Amino acid sequence: MIQSAKSLKDFMSKDNVISTTIPDTVLNSRVYIETYGCQMNVSDSDVVRSILLKEGYSITNEENDANIVLINTCAIRENAEGKVWNRLSYFQSLRNKNRISKKQKFPYIGVLGCMAERLKEKLLDEESVDFVCGPDAYRDIPRLLNKVSSTDQKEANTILSFDETYADISPVRTSISSSAFVSIMRGCNNMCSFCVVPFTRGRERSRSLSSIIDESKKIIEVDNIREIVLLGQNVNGYHDISEESSQKYHFRNSYNKSSELFSNLFESRKKKMPGARFVDALQEIAALHPEVRIRFTSPHPKDFPPEVLYTIADTPNICASLHLPLQSGSTSVLERMRRGYSREAYFKLVEDARKIIPGVTISTDIITGFCDETEDEHRETVTAMEQIVFDQAFMFCYSLRDRTHAAHNMNDNVPEDVKLRRLQEIIDTYRKALIKKNLDTELGALRLVLVEGFAKKSTVDRILLTGRTDGNKRVVFPYHKYIFKDLSISRDTVQSVSRILNQVDEMIKYDDKNIENSYKSRIEELQLNDSIDNPLISEDLFGKYVVVKIIKAGGQTLHAIPISVGSIEKYGSKGFVKL
Ligand code: SAM
Ligand code: SF4
Repeated sequence: MIQSAKSLKDFMSKDNVISTTIPDTVLNSRVYIETYGCQMNVSDSDVVRSILLKEGYSITNEENDANIVLINTCAIRENAEGKVWNRLSYFQSLRNKNRISKKQKFPYIGVLGCMAERLKEKLLDEESVDFVCGPDAYRDIPRLLNKVSSTDQKEANTILSFDETYADISPVRTSISSSAFVSIMRGCNNMCSFCVVPFTRGRERSRSLSSIIDESKKIIEVDNIREIVLLGQNVNGYHDISEESSQKYHFRNSYNKSSELFSNLFESRKKKMPGARFVDALQEIAALHPEVRIRFTSPHPKDFPPEVLYTIADTPNICASLHLPLQSGSTSVLERMRRGYSREAYFKLVEDARKIIPGVTISTDIITGFCDETEDEHRETVTAMEQIVFDQAFMFCYSLRDRTHAAHNMNDNVPEDVKLRRLQEIIDTYRKALIKKNLDTELGALRLVLVEGFAKKSTVDRILLTGRTDGNKRVVFPYHKYIFKDLSISRDTVQSVSRILNQVDEMIKYDDKNIENSYKSRIEELQLNDSIDNPLISEDLFGKYVVVKIIKAGGQTLHAIPISVGSIEKYGSKGFVKL
């Protein structure tokens, strides 16, 4: 049985962690963890924190205060690694400064994660690195630290595992937020020709659904989490073959791809074993609480059988937002990438998703300048961006990774300047298409936003809140104390609210005073005295759903005005607020 997921504040008091059996060297150790890369790494750092706290170490958020520095790394592209090398040089200078004697080095530095897995020897050759630890060996960090501090020798554990999921470890999250990552599977079997993940993260394995449900229940009930983001390198390949799930889901003994247009180049024999699939995980987790949103990342387009799409469509609290990494709009490039689908198959999947889940938002990943990519192939990616119109896109130049199929068998022969020019063309096309789409579909719309906290540009004089729509679009809106607490009011009142909003739109453009005056008088007019007598403070809205009206929808971030506190039950489904 797992324990409740805790946030760091639960461990700030030393009383929580000190036990008489913990050695002094550990008790006086303060660990600083720095995390690079994807959400999976953020989630892994929460696991590492948990392991260390349990052993009696304390955690610090100040690098200068630490005597142990752990850098959790990403190896997906050259520049992700570049950042880590720079940080290692910096920490080496820090410890030179802190060196107490010629023999003693402070702080100890450990490199964790994908770079540790990929570059073990090279890292150990660095003066700055004391130990490396791969993504499946985090339970071994206390032993590695012990060895390093007692022998002054370098240590490493980069053994990959077939079954490690850290299912029994209760992650210690650093941020106090309404949203939490829950890792459901690890590794990837897909072997896309450009990608190092199968080599750094190992084979696919899924955590038992019962342990995921236990963790989810606890973070909903104890930590008041209102959004769960399910994580995995190939998250929709989730397949729990534990005994419990094999019995419960004995009828799921075949494997369904998105459609016949998709293929699985490296299908595992386990795929046909009975057990819980991604659709079952979605349904069970979503059923835990109707007001907790469910999202997931990062999926592969091949693993979206229709029942997953119908489940998303039919379940109000599963967000209508799909990440579908396209990588390239050219079928010939996709073949070289070993993605298992053509341009047409991908377009058909998008069409189906949009038909089954009306209003679904779609985000993507693109790699430009892959081996032998011609100008014509590049144009196919540009036209795909124009035609599909993504709501969000993560776009990268191809970066050669050792050990991959592409590194062994192909030439990284698109010159750097051409890669960069193509990348810019793809970004420009994506942005232009998105601005038009947002103006068409978002401007003037009412959306249900889960409030995460203060926006970056918020000041004491002008408090701005931020959150996301069901479609994962970021929204910024000014806090207003006279926000309606409950819009379950008569149809007439609703009409009035809409009318007021139109007037407010014309009047304000973020002038708080006008908003306030306007709201106050209209609220008085509507006789919603409770809002005036007991106004909400901004923090009251954190972790709450708020109905907003979008008043500016040019780029990535939407700007809005708040109307009312809301709920999925009342204003779902899929965040399209119907008045
Ligand atoms: N599993 C997801 C999928 O296959 O669709 C992707 C997860 S991967 C960790 C995140 C993204 O990094 C990929 O979708 C891809 O766009 C990008 N990426 C992976 N390898 C890369 C490489 N060698 N060069 C540039 N980008 C790369
Ligand atoms: Fe990498 Fe994603 Fe392909 Fe797996 S599916 S090899 S993580 S790109």
